[in-house]
Amino acid sequence: MQRRCIFCRIIGGEAPAHKVYEDERVLAFLDIYPSAPGHTLIIPKAHVARVEDLSEEDAAALFRALHRLVGRIQAAVGAPASTIGVNNGPESGQEVPHVHIHVIPRFRGDRGGIIQGIARSGRRPSGEELRRIAERIRELSAASDA
Ligand code: AMP
Ligand code: ZN
Repeated sequence: MQRRCIFCRIIGGEAPAHKVYEDERVLAFLDIYPSAPGHTLIIPKAHVARVEDLSEEDAAALFRALHRLVGRIQAAVGAPASTIGVNNGPESGQEVPHVHIHVIPRFRGDRGGIIQGIARSGRRPSGEELRRIAERIRELSAASDA
């Protein structure tokens, strides 16, 4: 039998973690290799690899937990700000195939970057390209909502 993923083992109590929050759908714990003090991961208890495959209930529960926790995480480490992000799929750098929201406390002068800086297409799209992409996303949304 395949070994369960590391985050499922934390949920099951088979691997240790510094837990900071738990409810029936969600668990939050400190990242073991923090990018900053207080770096926290918020995960669904269901093993789902990607955001688009979450149930609506788990998606809502994750954002609810984020909303509750983010100010407390910042306060706990005296951070005035935070960066919130999800590596969604291997090409984005996701290593643990179980959805997790990173909450990384940020400090003035910490020399970190901004989320928009992690990928660079290297050119500015034309207005026509932007219009076509937006139209395509709306079409796909309409098709899957129908
Ligand atoms: P990524 O999949 O690239 O978004 O990142 C996975 C994150 O999980 C990394 O920041 C790791 O430090 C963290 N991580 C991996 N194993 C554990 C663990 N056992 N406990 C806490 N954090 C972990
Ligand atoms: Zn898992």
